[in-house]
Amino acid sequence: MTSQHPNSILISPVGEFSNELIQAVAAEIGQVFGFTTEMGSVVQDLSFALDQNRQQYHSTLILDQLAANIPATCIRILAIAQVDLFIPILTHVYGEAQLGGAACIVSTFRLNEGRSGLNIAPRYIERIVKETIHELGHTFNLRHCPEHTCIMHYCRNEEDVDRKSGELCRYCKIMVEDEIKRLKK
Ligand SMILES: [Zn+2]
Ligand SMILES: [Zn+2]
Repeated sequence: MTSQHPNSILISPVGEFSNELIQAVAAEIGQVFGFTTEMGSVVQDLSFALDQNRQQYHSTLILDQLAANIPATCIRILAIAQVDLFIPILTHVYGEAQLGGAACIVSTFRLNEGRSGLNIAPRYIERIVKETIHELGHTFNLRHCPEHTCIMHYCRNEEDVDRKSGELCRYCKIMVEDEIKRLKK
C-alpha cells in the first residue's frame, strides 16, 4: 500500500437525503476547496448526543465521534444530519465545526423547515449547500468574516443565509488557498 496523503473530503449523511442535495454539496466542495469527495456513513445512531431536557442533539459531541472515526483516505469529514443541533450557549445551531480540525456537521432541520431529507426544495438546497461550505471553511481555519456577502459571514437566521452569496470573499479565498497549500505539502 502507498502512504499517500489523505486527499478527499468525506460526505457522511446521517439518515436519508436526496441525491440532488448530496450531489450539489459534492460539486460545491470541489469548486471551493478543490478536493475530491467520497461518500460514507460513519455515525448513524446519534442517541449518545441527545439532551433529554432540550430534546436536541449536542453537536460538539457528534464532532468528537466523527473526528475519531475519519477514514485514513480523508482529510475532512462533513456530516449532514436531520436532527436539531445545539451547543449549550445557543438555542440551536445550523451546524458546527472544529476550527482547523477534521470534522464538521450541518443540520437540515431548520434550513429545510423540519421536512425530511428526501424532500428538499431547490432554494433550500442552496442554503444547505452554503452552510456546508461555511462549516468546512472553519475546518480550514477560516473564522467568521465581517463581509456580509461572504459565505463565512455569521448568520443568525434563515433569511441571513439566503441573503449571503455562495462564495468566499477575496480575503477568505486567499486564506483558504494558503491553508490548503500548507496541508498538501
Ligand atoms: Zn460559523
Ligand atoms: Zn470572507
